[in-house]
Amino acid sequence: MTLILDGIGVSPGIAIGRALPIARGESEVYEQRIPAELIEDEVERLRQVLDRTRRQLRAMREQIPDETAADVTAFVDTHLLMLEDRVLNEGVIDIVRELGCNAEWALKLQRDRLIAVFDGMDDPYLRTRRDDVDHVVQRIQRLLLNPDADDRVAPEFEDLRGRVVVVDDLTPEDIVLLHQAKAAAFVTEYGGPLSHTAILARSLGLPAIVGLREARRLLTEDETVVVDGALGMLVAGADDALMRRFRMRRRDLLRHRRELALLRERPAISRDGESVTLELNIELEDDIRAVREVGAEGVGLYRTEFLYLNRDTPPDEEEQLAAYRKVVRALKGRPLTIRTLDLGGEKEFGTDPLASTSPNPALGLRAIRRCLRHPAIFLPQLRAILRASAYGPVRLMFPMLTAVSEVEQALAMLQLCRQSLAQEGLAFNHLMPVGCMIETPAAALAADAFAARLSFLSIGTNDLIQYTLAIDRVDDEVNYLYDPLHPAVLRLIYGTIRAGRKAGVPVAMCGEMAGDPRYTRLLLGFGLRDFSTRAGTLPEVKRIVNQTHIGEIRPQVMRMLRARDPDDIAALLEQINNGVVDKLAYPD
Ligand code: PEP
Ligand code: MG
Repeated sequence: MTLILDGIGVSPGIAIGRALPIARGESEVYEQRIPAELIEDEVERLRQVLDRTRRQLRAMREQIPDETAADVTAFVDTHLLMLEDRVLNEGVIDIVRELGCNAEWALKLQRDRLIAVFDGMDDPYLRTRRDDVDHVVQRIQRLLLNPDADDRVAPEFEDLRGRVVVVDDLTPEDIVLLHQAKAAAFVTEYGGPLSHTAILARSLGLPAIVGLREARRLLTEDETVVVDGALGMLVAGADDALMRRFRMRRRDLLRHRRELALLRERPAISRDGESVTLELNIELEDDIRAVREVGAEGVGLYRTEFLYLNRDTPPDEEEQLAAYRKVVRALKGRPLTIRTLDLGGEKEFGTDPLASTSPNPALGLRAIRRCLRHPAIFLPQLRAILRASAYGPVRLMFPMLTAVSEVEQALAMLQLCRQSLAQEGLAFNHLMPVGCMIETPAAALAADAFAARLSFLSIGTNDLIQYTLAIDRVDDEVNYLYDPLHPAVLRLIYGTIRAGRKAGVPVAMCGEMAGDPRYTRLLLGFGLRDFSTRAGTLPEVKRIVNQTHIGEIRPQVMRMLRARDPDDIAALLEQINNGVVDKLAYPD
């Protein structure tokens, strides 16, 4: 009998293998009172386990082959850093001492506190940080509960050739091990598409499905299963005809991947000779390695708020300069677009006294509004960005604008910084381009006014869509309304591109829409020539650019702009894409 299980496909690819359900038996943690005279012994036991956890992670870090993608090592580094964090070591020790309880219980209490903070965040990316906390805590907890455990990082993951691992949840480190053990694919019962585990599976090319509840109960060891990581579907007991279809699909997918890899060194040029710039969005210094890996032309969006998170005080000018300079140098002459702080609402740092208390943070004192209100935060960043511009082609970009007066205030502050740097004899590029993001309907409709004052614009569709359609981008309840093809959204995007063109000011796009291959042709037809995307999607966007004759699709694109009915818009998009969007990786 054929059994089909549906989950969330997080890493495309087809794998056919034998199921290996693994129960890793998490034990419950209970509170125990520790007599006063034994407290220091308990603290010592915890310190030893923390040391052992650190050793395990370092050993695993060393096992990662050099050629592995940057984000893989970055995850392990993040976990190592978390282990060094006071909150997870001295913080837990303080609880043991204060409550006179066992280390396991103290760790659980600290974990619950941290998770509550992360759960309070709206940003889906930041919420995935919660998984990191959980993964590190789990690792420590396992060693506390089971001191005789094998010191190999995960002995159950050894030689997994031809196996489809079925498990409750996996840490990013587990994924590296699965990859090394040559597992064919994995499915987990929990987890979401934005989790680090999912991101990692994608960068290692390991087909994966998450959220397949009950998978371990429903599958038997060694039965043959097919995992389709794009469709999020697992099939057990497939008949011969179905197996043949999956094998064909697998062959096509592999061929497609090889074609994408070949594109890396080639420029993005449409069939009618239009040159297109493809850049990357980055968040951490380490992301920079991906620029070379995918052959990007620069960084179209560096989200600097990540420098401010997970700490109590903001980084000062020197620390910021060091971080920006490192990225500029690593880019070796490719442009770097540094976005000023987009804090507020969902992204807050430590115990920031300026943290927004707005009842509706997305509409509150966020991003540029917050920076303009608090020069003590803004000026050091502006100075650091200016100083970084002495080391290579840096562009500065302001987020979340609605009024031109905000640009004028921000530019005035930037001018103050230029003057003070000049007086201090510190180097910077006097001609550093300054632009802004178009992320609100107000900014899109008044794009001409922004273009008149700035050197470039960049459309942030993540926010533009949320503000245009009045839906919180991270509220699951209204997710169904999140629609990049909504006529209002299309008109705002087109209007912004046109306003930029009229003013002779380049317009880029750095929201998720820019990296979604389904919209590449549409955006090319609108006149967009500058895309900034996540690393994973850039090669596919390039492939589509190279296969597009923009002049030929433009009439249909313009019809899309005039269409009112969502079905008509969808049908026109289908015609425009005309089979060029990879159906294997993006099934609709
Ligand atoms: C956007 O809003 O599209 C954007 C790129 O900014 P962020 O996702 O950081 O808000
Ligand atoms: Mg935004």
